[in-house]
Amino acid sequence: MSTTYHSEVDEIIDALRSLASQCRVETAYWIATPDGEYESQNGSDWCRDCGMAKLRNLRKHDRRRADEYILDGGWVSEHDTPPMCAHCGVKLKATLLAYGGIYELEHFRDNPPAPGDVNHAYEISEMLSAFQYTRAEHDSLAKEAIEIGLALVSAMAVPA
Ligand SMILES: [Zn+2]
Repeated sequence: MSTTYHSEVDEIIDALRSLASQCRVETAYWIATPDGEYESQNGSDWCRDCGMAKLRNLRKHDRRRADEYILDGGWVSEHDTPPMCAHCGVKLKATLLAYGGIYELEHFRDNPPAPGDVNHAYEISEMLSAFQYTRAEHDSLAKEAIEIGLALVSAMAVPA
């Protein structure tokens, strides 16, 4: 299957980089237990501090198998939605797959990003990364995402 490479994505991400780099983003961790990955109501990804706290708590309630609870991760993995810490909600580093880009696009389509907002700059960059290469069925979504990104960049260029 052929893919389209969208070169505008690099330009927009470059233009947003100094702003996006100020967004607080933590490394993602997850908790392996003897019964599989630990899932909370808010998901299964954690920042390091919250993951460690949850790990201690789980071990305390299952002392016999405490050694089998492990904080795993610490590297960037692929996600269909932008991950947040299950406890404190901080953004976690991830590679967004196409569906993650679509998820962000559906948000920004109705809620345009604010020029100068570090979180939006980061989220728009993440969204666009997911649309860097698209299959034909996602080309029109990529175009829409790029238009949102270009609108943000040009709004930032206007002196307030
Ligand atoms: Zn946290």
